[in-house]
Amino acid sequence: MRSSYDCVIIGGGVSGLAIAYELAKRGYRDVAVLEESYLGSGSTGRCGSGIRAQFTSADQIVLLRESEAIWEHLSEELEYDVHFKACGYLFLWDTPELVDKARQNVAFQNRYGVMSRIIDRQEAKEICPSLNTDSFLAGQWYDKDGMAFPFDTVTGYARAARRQGVDIMTSTRVFEIETTAAHTFTVHTTQGNIETKNVVNAAGPEARGIAAMLNVDLPYRLDKHQIMATEPLEQFLGPMLVKGALYYLQTHRGNVVGGTDTGDQNATDVDSTFEFLTKFAKEATEIVPRLAGVKLMRQWAGYYVMSPDAHPVLGPVDEVPGFFQANGYSGHGFMMGPIVGRLLAEYIADGKPSIDIDHYNFRRFARGELLTEKAVIG
Ligand SMILES: Cc1cc2nc3c(=O)[nH]c(=O)nc-3n(C[C@H](O)[C@H](O)[C@H](O)COP(=O)(O)OP(=O)(O)OC[C@H]3O[C@@H](n4cnc5c(N)ncnc54)[C@H](O)[C@@H]3O)c2cc1C
Repeated sequence: MRSSYDCVIIGGGVSGLAIAYELAKRGYRDVAVLEESYLGSGSTGRCGSGIRAQFTSADQIVLLRESEAIWEHLSEELEYDVHFKACGYLFLWDTPELVDKARQNVAFQNRYGVMSRIIDRQEAKEICPSLNTDSFLAGQWYDKDGMAFPFDTVTGYARAARRQGVDIMTSTRVFEIETTAAHTFTVHTTQGNIETKNVVNAAGPEARGIAAMLNVDLPYRLDKHQIMATEPLEQFLGPMLVKGALYYLQTHRGNVVGGTDTGDQNATDVDSTFEFLTKFAKEATEIVPRLAGVKLMRQWAGYYVMSPDAHPVLGPVDEVPGFFQANGYSGHGFMMGPIVGRLLAEYIADGKPSIDIDHYNFRRFARGELLTEKAVIG
């Protein structure tokens, strides 16, 4: 292993690899990605694959609108099929109050160019013929939302970054970071030490621990979320369906993948439970009866890294020059990967991102300038 790089990125999930690729694309190639296990082994490989711009905060709507524009052409850009599909997100609302609120959300999203709309049950049935139209009053629909396959996304970014000269090291754990008098860092890893001017913390659920190595306290909470995949089925579903905490989609391989809340979000384990399965099965078959009798193939769990305002922390830390954050996604980091990669790379390489992300800075917590987001699913 080399002993110095211009930039060391900790974490081989979608964030770390997208940042590495975008840096290399800008000619900033003296970059190492350090991953303690295999690429995608963190939250990225556990996620529900969903990509949406239907949020309730202007900041997230804009960020995801721009991310979707990258997702649309990502396979061509990386020369690797990430299986992005604009299948649309269909939210199902079942009370007049929720429909009213959705109307307001839609008007708000439209102001930022996300042209979601309220649809009636008949149109929802045309979009998703398997829907039980007795299970909701109206839908909220945006056809540019979609899905991609997490492991292919990680592989696509990693291959494209490597082609441009980035070193990606797996089975390499960072256990200590020291600052030197010359404003550089010594990153201690299980494969040796690396000197660097810039460290990017893209360590997912471990981001708080990495930041603590430099006395930075990221005020995060880890929420457990369970998820499952059925056996592959012929393509029939169409959009991502969301009703309350329940969500599911059908992947390009035919598996229906999704989750719901099980009241065990505070658990410290990532065990799968039978309670989750029965609750998911009941809720999922209520809206799509055709799923009854389908076989489960796999279930697993992971963490949402929840920040106090459900928005990520992006950009530098004022007190530690050269230490960048790309974490705290609060359950939305997969969909944000492409835009975060671009903006963080612009920040590191050029000193200025093309979209202002200053309000995502870590300092907002100390100043009490929290952002607001209500649409966290699961
Ligand atoms: C059940 C579930 C469903 C989800 N569904 C969605 C969804 O539909 N859409 C969406 O956008 N998001 C979803 N998410 C959230 C999403 O998975 C994450 O926000 C996203 O994957 C974060 O990516 P990341 O690259 O920042 O982190 P990770 O993918 O967690 O990558 C961090 C990497 O850092 C490595 N690492 C940690 N510590 C060290 C160390 N000391 N040294 C070296 N390497 C280290 C880890 O091994 C890991 O591979 C879901 C999450 C869960 C749990």
